[in-house]
Amino acid sequence: MKQTNEVLGRFGTTVFEVMSKLAMENKAINLGQGFPDEDGPEDVRAMAAKGFVEGPNQYPPMMGTKELRNAVAHSNHRFYGIAVEPDTDIIVTSGATEALNDCLMALINPGDEVVLLEPLYDCYLPLVLRAGGIPKFVRLDPPHWELSKERLDAAFSEKTKLLLLNTPMNPTGKVFTAEELQLLADYVQKYDAYAVCDEVYEHITFGLARHIPLCTLHGMGDRTVRIGSAGKTFSLTGWKVGYITGCTELIGKIAKAHQFVTFTTPPALQNAVAFGLEKDDEFYNDLQDSMQAKRDFFRNALNDIGFETADCDGTYFINADIRSIGYEGTDVEFCQEIITKAGVAALPVSAFYATEGAVNHFVRFCFCKREDVLTTAIRRLEEFFNGND
Ligand code: GLN
Repeated sequence: MKQTNEVLGRFGTTVFEVMSKLAMENKAINLGQGFPDEDGPEDVRAMAAKGFVEGPNQYPPMMGTKELRNAVAHSNHRFYGIAVEPDTDIIVTSGATEALNDCLMALINPGDEVVLLEPLYDCYLPLVLRAGGIPKFVRLDPPHWELSKERLDAAFSEKTKLLLLNTPMNPTGKVFTAEELQLLADYVQKYDAYAVCDEVYEHITFGLARHIPLCTLHGMGDRTVRIGSAGKTFSLTGWKVGYITGCTELIGKIAKAHQFVTFTTPPALQNAVAFGLEKDDEFYNDLQDSMQAKRDFFRNALNDIGFETADCDGTYFINADIRSIGYEGTDVEFCQEIITKAGVAALPVSAFYATEGAVNHFVRFCFCKREDVLTTAIRRLEEFFNGND
């Protein structure tokens, strides 16, 4: 048989699928793959159900239903003061993953360099490579995930076509500050590159941390697109409804990829998401408050067991240093051990690094779970590591 695609052939099954399967087999509490254990707003789900029964159920417009494009345009303005045209500056996609793929397919040519910040979300590297891009990594290290100018200097060059940025960032929980974003914007402009910003956790930030879209920085509007996902904002990760916002020219180019990838997304889901996006401030504040309460609870409980935790200002992930409790193996061994012996699943942070010599003593816990679930997970970890004392 002839060889199938060699780029994708190099990758195994995604860590999310592997660990969720293991969690199920071991009846472990799954704090690995990131998904909430309570579904998002009932009225949004009811709206989708009504749409499925009453229609429309045929192909919606390729750029997305008018309802959702209007709602995305409105939320850009409402939350960040970004003014966009719903008809030309927005594409609705089947999840942020499709959006990322469309952007990479449309904006880079084989041989172009793409700057990626490590640790990175799992689909970034395969999608960049499949589009023919050459990855240039900028590594961030726990526990503070600081951006190093030296590493940026080494990654950016005249060959840079695109920066792929994720803020708030999975798996770190980092929310890039205005200063850090300005630094990145300076590099992007200096090398005349594009920026694709994965902002799926835009509404999940804590304390004083605020999400700032890179496209709002001076000079970035024409070279940046931002990606959102209803999966995160409405705790409906199975829906896979995403949206890309950018200037008319870039959106036009990206639409060329979208039209040949999925073309459209179920209209009932789109219109329900449109309804959801228009929810009042209370909904968005509650989302932040409830996620922050879960982070505080889980972080404190990990700290009480003896784990030191890395900074976490956004997303629903927190990273714990396994050496801080005297564990001497790798993060992969740690995850195997706790899943089989303690009944708790987490993810090894090394799975999110692509370069050699990656950090291998941090594990990522997903904390968007009911309090009783988090409490049981903590009790299991406590008993496993500290026995009965
Ligand atoms: N984004 C989720 C995570 O980081 C998982 C998504 C997926 O399973 N592909 O855990």
